[in-house]
Amino acid sequence: MADIYVFLGPPGAGKGTLGDLFCAETGVIHVSTGQLLRDEMAKQSEIGKQVKDLIAKGELISDDVVAAMVSNRLAQKDIQSKGCLLDGFPRTTPQADMLSRILAETNNRLAAVLLIEADRDMLISRLTSRRVCSNQACGAIFNVNTQRPAKDGVCDRCGSKLVQRSDDSESTAIERLHVYDAQTAPLIAYYTASGHLVRMQSRDVAPNENYQALKTALA
Ligand code: ADP
Ligand code: ZN
Repeated sequence: MADIYVFLGPPGAGKGTLGDLFCAETGVIHVSTGQLLRDEMAKQSEIGKQVKDLIAKGELISDDVVAAMVSNRLAQKDIQSKGCLLDGFPRTTPQADMLSRILAETNNRLAAVLLIEADRDMLISRLTSRRVCSNQACGAIFNVNTQRPAKDGVCDRCGSKLVQRSDDSESTAIERLHVYDAQTAPLIAYYTASGHLVRMQSRDVAPNENYQALKTALA
């Protein structure tokens, strides 16, 4: 039985960046539903074509499609032995119910749900200044203000070109925050009631400093 961690929080709170640090240190496997969907779009698969417009608008993908992806991933052997971090799932109350079923079926347990809270003004500026590595296998995250790569526009980790995600425009970022408030924030009460919720504040400091706050929260 493996430990499953969930990172919950508004877009731009740092789920991806802190998730990378957490997984590098603990060896648990990073499963980001946003990344799985972007991989499908890059492959131009059937799912990729279906979700493209919704993602560009900042809307959510249907619970069934995302839950099926997660269920397939959690059944794989590497996760059974190492555990995983779910970054971006669940995002609605029905998805949280689906997750409990998936965990029971795949014989895994929910270790903790970490709520990463952050100040609203910081979120918009972080999202619009975010740049990501165009190499799907790398996926490193940078920020033109606070985490500049050594060479402008080039990934420090693998040398590929850095790009802006299509849903990181200001208008889509604002819409994603509305969607978070309406559809995802109810999970805070849900996981408080189940006793799984722990909280941390993501501040405008270097990722490593926020990571220390994460470790304190999960300790
Ligand atoms: P962020 O947390 O920065 O908004 P993600 O990479 O987690 O970004 O997600 C990007 C997009 O992928 C979301 O705006 C949504 O359209 C889709 N998506 C990701 N995870 C889910 C999910 N669990 N349920 C529905 N849609 C999702
Ligand atoms: Zn890279």
